[in-house]
Amino acid sequence: TKQDTVSQEFIFRSKLPDIYIPNHLPLHSYCFENISEFQDRPCLIDGSTGRIYTYSEVELTSRRVASGLNKLGIEQGQVIMLLLHNSPEFVHAFLGASFCGAMSTTANPFCTPPEIAKQAAASKARLIITQAEFAPKVKDFAEENGVKVMCIDSAPEGCLHFSELTQADEAEMPSVKIDPNDVVALPYSSGTTGLPKGVMLTHKGLVTSVAQQVDGENPNLYFRKEDVILCVLPLFHIYSLNSIMLCGLRVGAAILIMQKFEIVKLMELVQRYKVTIAPFVPPIVLAMSKYADMDKYDLSSIRTVMSGAAPMGKELEDSVRAKLPNAKLGQGYGMTEAGPVLAMCLAFAKEPFEIKSGACGTVVRNAEMKIVNPDTGASLPRNQPGEICIRGNQIMKGYLNDPEATERTIDKDGWLHTGDIGYIDDDDELFIVDRLKELIKYKGFQVAPAELEAMLIAHPSISDAAVVPMKDEAAGEVPVAFVIRSNGSKITEDDIKQYISKQVVFYKRINRVFFTEAIPKAPSGKILRKYLRAKLASGVSA
Ligand code: AMP
Repeated sequence: TKQDTVSQEFIFRSKLPDIYIPNHLPLHSYCFENISEFQDRPCLIDGSTGRIYTYSEVELTSRRVASGLNKLGIEQGQVIMLLLHNSPEFVHAFLGASFCGAMSTTANPFCTPPEIAKQAAASKARLIITQAEFAPKVKDFAEENGVKVMCIDSAPEGCLHFSELTQADEAEMPSVKIDPNDVVALPYSSGTTGLPKGVMLTHKGLVTSVAQQVDGENPNLYFRKEDVILCVLPLFHIYSLNSIMLCGLRVGAAILIMQKFEIVKLMELVQRYKVTIAPFVPPIVLAMSKYADMDKYDLSSIRTVMSGAAPMGKELEDSVRAKLPNAKLGQGYGMTEAGPVLAMCLAFAKEPFEIKSGACGTVVRNAEMKIVNPDTGASLPRNQPGEICIRGNQIMKGYLNDPEATERTIDKDGWLHTGDIGYIDDDDELFIVDRLKELIKYKGFQVAPAELEAMLIAHPSISDAAVVPMKDEAAGEVPVAFVIRSNGSKITEDDIKQYISKQVVFYKRINRVFFTEAIPKAPSGKILRKYLRAKLASGVSA
């Protein structure tokens, strides 16, 4: 029924009708468009201090931050780096940058100094906003490159304090003209292949994505201003930034900020603040399903449990459904480059639809999805697995300074190729069955094999290497390496693990090393990862 006869393609759309999307507005104007309806309501609740910031406070502080950034010399089109755990300052800094036409590149503060330096240099960040405990990680880079460092909690020597921004005069906010196609967020992702790249998300793209989720009569995500949304997923990842922070702001909900995941604290906060919306990733859902004392807490306020960023099996879904009978549980499917939401479970809609366990939603509104045969490029009908592609205003503008990688990912007709394999069933539900791309996902965090392979090959005792995912119950996947030793080398598994762990953030650590005589490669030199994955699946021995 949904076949597009003109192009002879099988194109899938949402069951929900398209809506009007005001994507001519800058992101901050769109988020605060309806603020008069909820200006005195709580916007941010700091879970660690209990401090509440109302909508009018958050809006005002963000304007002050914009003035302050401008005073520090941050101009329209320039980049600041947010190297922060979840905090109200993250929200103020991101919105402040948006107000002054600047962009935020976000990174995990647990990253190592070289990882941070790489991203800060590639994105040309002028200012790094972080916490005092992480300031030493960026000190050398900042000094060598004339980059300012600012801390939100104190001002160690050589660093500015965030109050410098929040105490600026909002009347001095620069008046900038923002084009909807200007970039506002610059998260890093390796996409389908290679090293991490800056993903250019524009005002228009993010407004479109948020609207696809929460605007209109019967929105996919029926968030209301009465909702309390738990924000435990890291805001430096686009899932949390978009589907929690931006969606929450747009509807006027309260966003309960948790610095880091701790099961007991999480239960306490849910109970104390009567959390209604709980966006999670599968490892958190797993931790909850295994937590023996769950029935000691009153979690009955939760009406929605969303999971995304990595696959969640039917068994896990069903076990949490049994434990939280009042809640609707379902998945969303995102990819940073897609803005990030491609599909969302319709159980969360105002008029909820029946959904199947294991499905990761149906394509969002105002967008098109197709499933293509990765060898021929032909689009496929229902129930046939192929590469998932998406088209719409929400997808990225491209990769920063990398037109080739952009062209490999977004084809000339505007389709973004995800590198994920899935199919759409008779009820429009999308099921992801495999991953064509190299990407490894540890608890939803990205691990780019190419990055680890480059480090391995740089070691004098290693002549060649390949990194692939191995299934793991707690993490979903962990990176493992196949390694060819250099002639005469006696390097051990432990040596290699330590060599890598010194250079990378915890989730990129290599879990196992398998020494081998040959790495399977195509004539082009491309590693044939599927053979190595198959070897692992059949139980490889070192
Ligand atoms: P990221 O760009 O870090 O959000 O990673 C995107 C990738 O995570 C996708 O391309 C998928 O491979 C995976 N992913 C995200 N959501 C899901 C989901 N619900 N089920 C399975 N895989 C997912």
